[in-house]
Amino acid sequence: DPAHEAPWLANLNPPQREAVLTTEGPVLMLAGAGTGKTAALTARMAQIIAQRLAWPSEILCVTFTNKAAREMRERVGHLIGPAVEGMPWLGTFHAIAAKMLRRHAELAGLQSNYTIIDTDDQLRLLKQLIQAEGLDEKRWPAKALAGCIDRWKNRGFGPGDLDAVENEAYANGRGAHFYRLYQDRLKAVNACDFGDLLLHMLDIFRRHRDVLEEYQRRFKYIMVDEYQDTNSVQYLWLRLLAQGIEGRRHNICVVGDDDQSIYSWRGAEVANILRFEKDFPGAKVIRLEQNYRSTPHILGAASGLIKENSERLGKQLWTEATGGDKVRVIGVWDAPEEARRVGEEIERLEREGLPLDRIAILVRAQFQTREFEDRFISIGLAYRIIGGFRFYERAEIRDALAYLRIITQPADDLAFERIYNTPKRGLGDKTLEKLHRFARAHEMPLAAAALAMADTDELPAKARNTLLALMRDMARWRDLAKTATPAELARVMLDESGYTAMLQADRSAESAGRLENLSELARAMEDYETLGDFLEHVSLVMDNEANNDAEKVTIMTIHAAKGLEFDHVFLPGWEEGVFPSQRSLDEGGLASLEEERRLAYVAITRARRHCTILHAANRRIYGQWTSSLPSRFIGELPPAHIHSESTMTGGASLWRAQWSERDDPFAHLAQNKPQRMETRGPGWQRASQTTFAPSRKIAENTRSAASFAATPRLDIRIGDKVFHEKFGNGTVKAQEGNKLEIEFDSGGFKRVLDSFVKRI
Ligand code: ATP
Ligand code: MG
Repeated sequence: DPAHEAPWLANLNPPQREAVLTTEGPVLMLAGAGTGKTAALTARMAQIIAQRLAWPSEILCVTFTNKAAREMRERVGHLIGPAVEGMPWLGTFHAIAAKMLRRHAELAGLQSNYTIIDTDDQLRLLKQLIQAEGLDEKRWPAKALAGCIDRWKNRGFGPGDLDAVENEAYANGRGAHFYRLYQDRLKAVNACDFGDLLLHMLDIFRRHRDVLEEYQRRFKYIMVDEYQDTNSVQYLWLRLLAQGIEGRRHNICVVGDDDQSIYSWRGAEVANILRFEKDFPGAKVIRLEQNYRSTPHILGAASGLIKENSERLGKQLWTEATGGDKVRVIGVWDAPEEARRVGEEIERLEREGLPLDRIAILVRAQFQTREFEDRFISIGLAYRIIGGFRFYERAEIRDALAYLRIITQPADDLAFERIYNTPKRGLGDKTLEKLHRFARAHEMPLAAAALAMADTDELPAKARNTLLALMRDMARWRDLAKTATPAELARVMLDESGYTAMLQADRSAESAGRLENLSELARAMEDYETLGDFLEHVSLVMDNEANNDAEKVTIMTIHAAKGLEFDHVFLPGWEEGVFPSQRSLDEGGLASLEEERRLAYVAITRARRHCTILHAANRRIYGQWTSSLPSRFIGELPPAHIHSESTMTGGASLWRAQWSERDDPFAHLAQNKPQRMETRGPGWQRASQTTFAPSRKIAENTRSAASFAATPRLDIRIGDKVFHEKFGNGTVKAQEGNKLEIEFDSGGFKRVLDSFVKRI
């Protein structure tokens, strides 16, 4: 009787309903984007709880992100009320495994209050091990070892499980040795890394049948969203939990879409979803074809694109929805214009009454967010960055900003501390401690203390020389700041300080992104005349997060947008080398290009009503203008579903023409000069009202470090007997400001600071 039907069943289509009502036995829901897989999974959970087939605590439900878990918990709560109470085992693989490991830590050689270390700690630890073993870290970087260990853990390999090939992957066959050292060290400090969470639990399940059986009994139902992106260790862990106890049905239900597998670079294996029927014989396979999310044009564009992939199961999607606009493809001059254009569109939507949180900008690479952040700040548009740091908060950007700050403001101690040994110069904590002590005693900044101590014997010769060189560099950069543009200064500083070289020497995947971010920073600076102006702008951007409840535009990577939906989606940077990424093109393999295409499919299918793709004709990369070609993915969109326009010439198919204009990308723009991005639009005032203007403060503080010279002590004269902590007793032979020449009883003359001696 439909009138008395539970509300979570009411709107479901027949295959969805079948998935929800088939609570017993293995179920595989394999279907395209927006077909209601996650919705069905949520309804299934409500059904199981409402029918009292299990308590909420007896359901294991794995989602891909914490946000997805939160949403699912809310939705189930909405459907069945407070009966949902918590759902302790609803979460990401990491969250669930961490919770289990707390209960059984001792079985993994840990205490239950173990810490989960982050990547920085991990690298530090690996470096120590590499040094202790006498290995050349330049040849065998810690980053590379970290990458190997991560991969091994994703595959479920412990140190004893590596085959010869894997073992060769680091330090000529010493991979397993270092892996083992690392694991021992982690245990010794009662810690584990993210990869360990699942691996330890897998290990415990295998070695302690009783623990495994406890969980097998507890979890009457297991559900997994985004199953296409599970990696080996996740798969093995799930399979142990779902199989096992004799005579029981395996109540596992997984949902996914092979076309949305986008994490193979992190070890995900789309094969996991394809072999589900083998692992669980008699599994019911349910396919959904009706899409409820998007308009026909959006669906048509996405389906046409993904058809170009050869390795897929293939499926047909349809929708009852009619009407809607075509997917727009907009060609712009450059990245600032791209950001300006998107900003204008969003302001128009806002005026029409669309809440900002229904709008998203999805980027391929992190560096792309910067241009949008800057633009939105200057027009006063509220945005949030999800899944990743905001541009100016990233470590390498903060390092670069610290260098810039110390130039404009020698008194900035935080900046000094940040860069004083970055890149590594061999200046240790001891030296910093001495600088601090001296700076405190004389109420001077660290940089001034460094200058004062650098030509004395208070510091070991090596530290002294290094400090002197650094102070000389800074003086030179400060000089340069008077004539060079801020962007030039930044480039010189990053090069001369060795910072760029440090990143170049490190061949990990992240360091390429970091270099990209730094050149993007220099790009951003080109719009400012003085360093002070630029730093003021940065502090305004950093302050943008203050108002947290307001509706905001979402900026995130496509990877992080998996499973989500927005009314309006903007997809910038669809250019060869950005999307598909340069890395995927360099690797050249079909597999990596197909993964990029799946990513493009995920991107388009996030849109409910409107999807706008943008590409710029020119991009400045590493300070160089390069002309860019529109992404091949644009060419693969079925023409019937797209509407192309160009803001440059008005020609609708400029992006097609550009394929053949590689040699002279500026030719067609001869009569149409690009405008410079105005950095201070009318919204500037609005944004700056609530914040102080740091540039004024910077100006006041811009004094040279030398002007902080300490006052000499008047109570010490030539001939006085004094005691020095390090060198012992001696006689003052000469005095110059606050520096003393002392002949020590232990032998030899030393130059020391008067504040470091006591009269005796
Ligand atoms: P993705 O592959 O992107 O994760 P999905 O298959 O999980 O997508 P959902 O997010 O569950 O799809 O659903 C997409 C949209 O369709 C949601 O807004 C959802 O509320 C709606 N929806 C799902 N099923 C139905 C239905 N039977 N009737 C009406 N709307 C539905
Ligand atoms: Mg989903």
